[in-house]
Amino acid sequence: AILPQAFVNEPALWRSALAWPQPDGHKYSRGHALVVGGEGWKSGAPRLAAGAALRAGAGLVTIAAPFRALPIYASQLTAVMLAEANNPDGLGDVLADERKNAVLLGPGLGVGAGTAAMVKVALCGRRAIVLDADALTSFEARREDLFAMIAAEAGRDVVLTPHEGEFARLFGKETLTEAPSKLEAARAAARASGAIVVLKGSDTVVAGPDGRAAVNEMSSPFLATAGTGDVLAGIIVGQLAQGVAGFEAAASAVWIHGAAAARRGPGLISEDLQALMPGVLAGLAAGV
Ligand code: AMP
Ligand code: MG
Repeated sequence: AILPQAFVNEPALWRSALAWPQPDGHKYSRGHALVVGGEGWKSGAPRLAAGAALRAGAGLVTIAAPFRALPIYASQLTAVMLAEANNPDGLGDVLADERKNAVLLGPGLGVGAGTAAMVKVALCGRRAIVLDADALTSFEARREDLFAMIAAEAGRDVVLTPHEGEFARLFGKETLTEAPSKLEAARAAARASGAIVVLKGSDTVVAGPDGRAAVNEMSSPFLATAGTGDVLAGIIVGQLAQGVAGFEAAASAVWIHGAAAARRGPGLISEDLQALMPGVLAGLAAGV
């Protein structure tokens, strides 16, 4: 109630920016999202994200993962495609296909130099990028490297999706504790990084480097369960693949994610969100 109306995340902010399929469209014209995954025993997070990207409307979704993990991924996927990427060079080969126009790194990838090197490869070029989870924590000790790589390519969208712990690691605890509010903390982080920052939690804030910001009220406390963040990252990359601009992609994804959760309520698990999305999207599409 204390929040100025201007900062509430609502469909009026981004509804007209959403992408819908054209009558004469095909799957290639709806974009191709790439989710970078890691070892097989951590394949759940990238799979949740990839499924959400498809539900969000990306025409094609591929998971790139180490060769030895591919059978595990394959046994649990249907429409999502697979590509081999054993290391950063391998990821570079996968990304040589420019039709893969949006990429997500982080869920299930592991923290360390290997993940940071993959992020570096993905940030070369103009495609839209979502960095979540382990991709954020891998830059804990070298945030300036990450911000420099983001700044090196103007005019492409980078979306960072930290929860408060990941935010404190990447931007420093003081960015959170010294800001007058969570809203201002996210805005400071967006300015510092040059990225759109989605600071998650019960009152998720979306902030752009241009100063725009929105606080999300469409959500459900039942989202506090394993895997829901991976689903959110997947919805965002699915929007970006369709050509939705970064701020609108992030803000709409946060709203759609929250609205899907609110439809189920008690008993919600992250796997449910995918099946709840079409109902939410139908409401947004009405009248388009
Ligand atoms: P993660 O921490 O990466 O698994 O992401 C958790 C997701 O659930 C984020 O989208 C959060 O915003 C959301 N979430 C977690 N706790 C709550 C809560 N109490 N109310 C609403 N959303 C929440
Ligand atoms: Mg997470």
